Amino acid sequence: MPRRKKESNISFEFVPRNVWKLRKREDIETYIGGYKHFLQECKTVREAIEYFVKMLETRGFKRLSKLPIRGRGRPPTKLDVYEVYKNKTLVAFRIRPPFVKGINLVAAHLDSPKLDLKPMPIAEKEGFAIGKTHYYGGIKKYQWFNLPLAVHGTVVKTDGSTVKVRIGEDPSDPVVLITDLLPHLDRRDDPVQKLFKGEDLNVILASDTLGQKDEKEAVKKALLTLLNEKYGITEEDLVSAEIELVPALQPKDVGIDASMVGAYGHDDRVCAYTGFTALLETNNPVRSAGLVLLDREEIGSDGNTGAKHLFWMKTLKKVARIIKKDVDVEELTEVSAMLSGDVSAGVNPIFTDVHDLANAPRLNYGIAILRYTGSGGKYSTNEAHAEFVAAVRRIFNESDICWQPAEFGKVDQGGGGTVAKFFAETGIDVIDAGPPLLGMHSPFEIVSKADVYETHRAYRAFLEKFESTR
Ligand code: MN
Ligand code: MN
Repeated sequence: MPRRKKESNISFEFVPRNVWKLRKREDIETYIGGYKHFLQECKTVREAIEYFVKMLETRGFKRLSKLPIRGRGRPPTKLDVYEVYKNKTLVAFRIRPPFVKGINLVAAHLDSPKLDLKPMPIAEKEGFAIGKTHYYGGIKKYQWFNLPLAVHGTVVKTDGSTVKVRIGEDPSDPVVLITDLLPHLDRRDDPVQKLFKGEDLNVILASDTLGQKDEKEAVKKALLTLLNEKYGITEEDLVSAEIELVPALQPKDVGIDASMVGAYGHDDRVCAYTGFTALLETNNPVRSAGLVLLDREEIGSDGNTGAKHLFWMKTLKKVARIIKKDVDVEELTEVSAMLSGDVSAGVNPIFTDVHDLANAPRLNYGIAILRYTGSGGKYSTNEAHAEFVAAVRRIFNESDICWQPAEFGKVDQGGGGTVAKFFAETGIDVIDAGPPLLGMHSPFEIVSKADVYETHRAYRAFLEKFESTR
């Protein structure tokens, strides 16, 4: 419990607690081992969905579309189910009686900033086959120069068959990259970030003509031949492909004390993974519990696999039909509660001036809760009500969770959004809660191991114990 010291020394101050002082290092490391494995296996939304589905199946969860809506006998009162939409968004529920009491949810997004190949990506320039890209999400373009990139993708052919591509993750695999300009010839006054156009984010894909007789665009033709030999695909097939370029970096411990983890895509796979393991460990919740994993958050949650689609509510309606409860799911949201799991901007010792340090989250001090995000005077954000914040605080305190209140940077400094506001439109109580990061949206983001572990504990406490705002 935070801050009530010995009677002789009562303090009314709130001081967040350092997680390392309260948890066992070995417990943290064991948990982080699983998280690092997940990060390395899953660098795209599709890969993460496949990973989670496999885990859910082995843990006895049933895919909802495979369950009979009108089965014989008494309808079930308990149900562990999941559903996937378009291979990119997933919901999983542990339904417990009575259904009308509502549901505790954790939401997180699986998409991260990346470079997508364009529909007609391959061109030849000065003896190189280059791949044209369109960046996805908020990136600082210079961070992607001279960075080994891996190619992850799914190509769908007109006969419906799919070809999976994954190049650059095996130590013996080649990688691709965007080449930077040498400092000797880069004597411009403007910073690279300002000068560099998104249209110029072209990766070097190949440079060998591979015995092509044609003089014109021999490297491009050679590359297309190579792709056809290896994957059976043509240039036209790339029009119906989703090929993503992601950092070919493995998760690594950071710091001489190995207290942090550096990796691509902590935002927001850290909340997806901690939410997922929390749900698996939630065996006897006080009411139903669930997890919503989303795509498209980084570009505003548009599209039918993003938070605006409300796929989770549609799925919950199907659940109500299976357990034959005449429940209005639209009303159920009003007694339900959600933690919108997303990362926040941790205090960076080199750039402290962007924060109000009294309202900024720090690495190693546990899960950060943000009543609101948004920008420019609380625009474009949900704000959690005081009653709900108090109820979440109570659960965290009763479960001995290290937590810290936070804002997303100084007033008028900038800001950001999460999925919380889209869920709030359904009437559900929702608050942003997740670990702070350093270098968010960079190819190698930093998170504290202790915070990851504590976030898992916090989500579990919420899913298991949250009852109402009272
Ligand atoms: Mn995020
Ligand atoms: Mn983000």
